[in-house]
Amino acid sequence: MMNKADVAIVGGGIIGLFTAFWLAQRGERVVVLEKNYPGSGSTFRCGTGIRQQFGDDANIQMMVRSVEIWKDFCKYMEYPGPASECFTFAQTGYLFLLYSESEISEFSKNVSLQHKYGVPSSIISPEEAREIVPTLDISEVMAAAWNPTDGKASPFLAIRALVDRVRDMGGEIYVNTPVTELLIEKNTVTGVKTSRGEIKADMVLNATNAWANALNEQIGVRFPIEPYKHQAIVTEPFKAGEIKPMVISFKHGGAYLTQKANGGVIGGIALKYGPTWDISPTYEFLREVSRNFTRIIPALKYISIIRQWGGYYAETPDHNAILGKVKEVDGYYIAAGFSGHGFMLAPAVAEAMADLMTKGSTTLPLDFYDPYRFQRGELREQAIQMG
Ligand SMILES: Cc1cc2nc3c(=O)[nH]c(=O)nc-3n(C[C@H](O)[C@H](O)[C@H](O)COP(=O)(O)OP(=O)(O)OC[C@H]3O[C@@H](n4cnc5c(N)ncnc54)[C@H](O)[C@@H]3O)c2cc1C
Repeated sequence: MMNKADVAIVGGGIIGLFTAFWLAQRGERVVVLEKNYPGSGSTFRCGTGIRQQFGDDANIQMMVRSVEIWKDFCKYMEYPGPASECFTFAQTGYLFLLYSESEISEFSKNVSLQHKYGVPSSIISPEEAREIVPTLDISEVMAAAWNPTDGKASPFLAIRALVDRVRDMGGEIYVNTPVTELLIEKNTVTGVKTSRGEIKADMVLNATNAWANALNEQIGVRFPIEPYKHQAIVTEPFKAGEIKPMVISFKHGGAYLTQKANGGVIGGIALKYGPTWDISPTYEFLREVSRNFTRIIPALKYISIIRQWGGYYAETPDHNAILGKVKEVDGYYIAAGFSGHGFMLAPAVAEAMADLMTKGSTTLPLDFYDPYRFQRGELREQAIQMG
């Protein structure tokens, strides 16, 4: 095991690995410590969605940058073969179904704000929505918010590509290696203690998301991040290409669903449990997801669910992440609390964190995610959350 790095990253999820990539690209010697295996936290349990349709400036700006990077992901990964084998970011859109005047008014405001940053979203009619997804029941739909440049991607392929690229660039990734302690001298971080020994480092990034406070407790710091159980399902294949975009209905249990490349339908609803460390699947979820999905797309009642799983949303009170320097100890940083939208945000969040750690500042709106906003009572507007 290496004994000295420039940066030690705790957590090998999408955030830890993407930050490792940007840091390695800037010539930093990085080590990623993962207590289990890469992606094994929330990342491999995610619903694959990537959207710019948020309702506030910061998340829209971050997502515009993220989508730019997701589009060029294979170039960044310097994948030698065809792009289809490396990774697929399918820009198949996000379609929010709207059932009331108040939803139309709220989403119209969001669309205007999204236009400020060049997102080509619009409010469309129920008939136009059904042209995009022919199997939709539009009998009660009044309008829809549509953005064709949102999409979805496989977390499995993304993690695999990042692991390979970080290692190619000289970064080290250790699996089954929990970090048990921060090493600190005179209020400055000097490295980490792991189950396999100590690694000295000038900077440490806490990218453990739901588990973030376990390390913070050592220095008497606790940010408001709580683990909530959210679940998702995948079905047997449905007629391929029938549900291209991510379809969302807040009226139907906060349902989100889309189709994977093999035709299976993946998605979930806004039924959560917690705070809890228990992520076992529940029958209540299975029943509610079936009821709500089939109201949106009645034909789904003819196909079977083949898998159901639970995972953590690491939730903060305003559903926005906690990103930045931990002031109590020099050289210690945090990127956690993604509240159910960390996969999509990862490329830009990681770039902003790498900027902050290497240059001290970034052009991305990192201040919005200030870890100390809660202490000051300055919660942000609630981020739009799926599930
Ligand atoms: C059902 C579900 C659906 C979702 N759908 C979407 C979606 O459609 N789009 C989207 O953007 N997001 C979605 N999310 C959220 C997304 O999965 C997370 O926001 C994202 O994966 C967070 O990435 P991360 O790297 O911060 O955390 P994680 O992937 O959880 O990685 C943290 C890692 O830290 C490791 N770790 C913890 N403690 C230690 C330690 N002491 N030492 C070493 N390693 C440690 C863990 O093992 C873990 O691998 C969904 C989540 C769930 C559960």
